[in-house]
Amino acid sequence: METISHREAVNSPERSTPSHFIKNIIGDDLASNKYEGRVHTRFPPEPNGYLHIGHAKSICLNFGLAAEYRGGLCNLRFDDTNPSKEDVEYVDSIKQDVRWLGFDWGDRMYYASDYFEQLYRCAVELIRRGKAYVCDLTPEEVRKNRGTLSEPGIDSPCRNRSIEENLDLFARMRAGEFPDGSRTLRAKIDMGSPNINMRDPVMYRILRATHHRTADKWCIYPMYDFTHCISDSLESITHSICTLEFEDHRPLYDWFLDSLGLYRPQQIEFARLNLSYTVMSKRKLLELVEEGHVSGWDDPRMPTISGLRRRGYTPESIRTFCERIGVAKRNSVVDIALLEHCVREDLNRCAPRVMAVLNPLRVIIDNYPENVVEELDAVNNPEDASMGTRKIPFSRELYIERDDFREAPPKQFFRLAPGREVRLRYAYYITCEQVIKDTVTGEVIELHCRYDPATRGGDSPDRRKVKATLHWVSAAHSIPVDVRLYDQLFSVPDVTAEKDGEDYKDYLNPASLQVLKSCRVEPGLSEAQPGNRYQFERQGYFCVDSRDSSPGKPVFNRTVNLRDTWAKIEKSIAS
Ligand code: ATP
Ligand code: MG
Repeated sequence: METISHREAVNSPERSTPSHFIKNIIGDDLASNKYEGRVHTRFPPEPNGYLHIGHAKSICLNFGLAAEYRGGLCNLRFDDTNPSKEDVEYVDSIKQDVRWLGFDWGDRMYYASDYFEQLYRCAVELIRRGKAYVCDLTPEEVRKNRGTLSEPGIDSPCRNRSIEENLDLFARMRAGEFPDGSRTLRAKIDMGSPNINMRDPVMYRILRATHHRTADKWCIYPMYDFTHCISDSLESITHSICTLEFEDHRPLYDWFLDSLGLYRPQQIEFARLNLSYTVMSKRKLLELVEEGHVSGWDDPRMPTISGLRRRGYTPESIRTFCERIGVAKRNSVVDIALLEHCVREDLNRCAPRVMAVLNPLRVIIDNYPENVVEELDAVNNPEDASMGTRKIPFSRELYIERDDFREAPPKQFFRLAPGREVRLRYAYYITCEQVIKDTVTGEVIELHCRYDPATRGGDSPDRRKVKATLHWVSAAHSIPVDVRLYDQLFSVPDVTAEKDGEDYKDYLNPASLQVLKSCRVEPGLSEAQPGNRYQFERQGYFCVDSRDSSPGKPVFNRTVNLRDTWAKIEKSIAS
């Protein structure tokens, strides 16, 4: 395509990722030298909540574009114009999350609140130019007079105030002469515009709220649309990338800057990320936290960056996910199985394998000597020989997974059963000879087995076949740990499709968290550090919880199981 060859000639991407329409626009702009060859983006979160996976899409896009073009820059800007909902806790978490994802804003961290004085002067300038006025209508009246999609709005009775009177009233608004909500400053555009955003939008409101940075210096606060374009302009942003719902705001973005005669970046809209089985609205996520449906913003079931991190997601897997979903103009819902697929793929490469028994069943090897402990060799990662091997202790008493034994095995069950022989991974073949049950409940409490000393390491010299290989741990050497199994937070794929009288919280999955208290893991895991990730063989990927673990006593969170539903979906699409 022409635009691509242009781009290559002028400023070729340094690291090539899939192309999309925004790269094409940037390519054209570089070719025509629209911004003197500059690419300067920004990520503008409002510090009113923790970042989620949708924000990750925007972060990867904005910082990713800056990294792809020579000299490209991306600012981090806190869009902090709404003091009643914002907090430094959110500012700190946002910085941590952006860094953790692998991005760097250098010395370009800004706050919209740093521009309050400049914004005020811009507002005064618009009044001087006859393009803004102080309006005495209440918020309800403003709303009522705005009209609808089919009906034009009604002019405010204050619309034709003199410039002098407007300047005076606006200065007095700032000075704190009027009560909250009693007046606003509005842009004087067109109450008959088919675009409702252009019907004299509010630029400033009176609000006595302590701001986390400017404290009580201001009692008037600028609105988002007015603030955002001017902040972009002041920072010399070239491409102001935002989500589709701002498409109808673009004329206003342009109007403010053109009316002030300021440098104008190009606003470009893309489709926001929606994920199945979850919610992405900050309001709803806050509600889940405040009402205690989850343990906090970083609950491993939350779609927040901090939740995913605590769950065991790697930054690489999230970046890969954001690359794979692409950037488009049409809204869609991405299957959460794709996100799981990405982390599985990454952890398969880098997570060491270990053996962990989640629901232990005691096994006694009757013909194995008491007081003998063998150190057997186990492979740390069959995908990566450089990760080496480790020693694991084997002894007369072991634990296997309760699910790996059936007293009366159904047809397709090939694991352990009375009289049947199976392989213990890296160890020996064993045959089940006796089943001991609780005399009252009938529950199986232990198995007595025989081992074949000739099969050490897991192979038999006579090449006889066994149909199953089980994981296990030595009873005396393994350490007891808590393991938390997570499932989707919601039990329906489309959480937003609330039926009559139902609320998204009605779809919360009651089984999203299962805590297992008597699990047993290899002794080496007593050293596991918060954040360490492992594959528990045959179970899934697990991560040491960063909050609830203590030295020598790790608590494990299941990141994802081994079953790859996404691979299945891909297969079915292909066939
Ligand atoms: P709100 O403004 O309602 O508090 P928000 O989700 O827009 O919520 P912001 O903090 O304003 O939150 O978002 C920062 C940036 O992240 C914006 O540029 C926004 O467009 C982008 N963003 C937010 N949610 C998504 C999403 N689901 N997919 C892609 N980008 C998103
Ligand atoms: Mg927003």
